[in-house]
Amino acid sequence: MIVNERIADYICSLDPGNGAFLDQVEREARRQEVPIIRKETSAFLKMLVAAKRPERILEVGTAVGYSALLMSRVMPENCRITTIEKFSPRIQAAKANFLEAGEERITLLEGDAEEILKDLTGPFDFIFMDAAKGQYIHWLPEILRLMPVGGVLLSDNVLQDGDVIQSRFAVERRDRTIHKRMREYLFALTHDSRLQTSVVPVGDGAAVSVKIR
Ligand code: SAH
Ligand code: MG
Repeated sequence: MIVNERIADYICSLDPGNGAFLDQVEREARRQEVPIIRKETSAFLKMLVAAKRPERILEVGTAVGYSALLMSRVMPENCRITTIEKFSPRIQAAKANFLEAGEERITLLEGDAEEILKDLTGPFDFIFMDAAKGQYIHWLPEILRLMPVGGVLLSDNVLQDGDVIQSRFAVERRDRTIHKRMREYLFALTHDSRLQTSVVPVGDGAAVSVKIR
């Protein structure tokens, strides 16, 4: 928890839910400990998509399709989502959820984002980066290539439950590589002259970047 727990609880208590089906997908995912988007962040994601009104969305990290379905609820009618997932059981679950939701505007690309990103042409005017945290920095050049000027990039889990502010020696050895790469990523997002970025302490930390040139 990176913000006061009572404040976070209060913010979550304001969440009106997303209808019976999506609420069920959410409950099931949390029960199975699938790392779906936090409640506070989901409101932030939906608000950004609603404000941006994108034509094409790219999501890296589908899991069981929860966040893709959230976005589909608020995006313009003619918008399309491309989402990438490499873990087979989650691919199957996501496909079943898209089917059950009757949502045909979402295309699931199966495989490693590392390979798939290189083959995409875009442009994607909204990108939700929500996969392996340690890879964000390596994927950034491809992500920037896929974004038009005015495009929005939302990167999730960038504050790593607060770990990112700890000294490298205060985080567990096995987390040090991710810690270092996430700091590099946040530095890159905030210092790249093509981007205007705000790091927001919502949920597990989110960075919103707009491509300005
Ligand atoms: N966006 C989802 C949660 C995604 S969890 C939601 O909020 O509902 C992160 C997902 O990224 C996991 O399911 C994991 O299997 C996937 N992932 C991690 N590394 C990946 C990679 N290199 N390529 C494709 N998917 C990856
Ligand atoms: Mg996430």
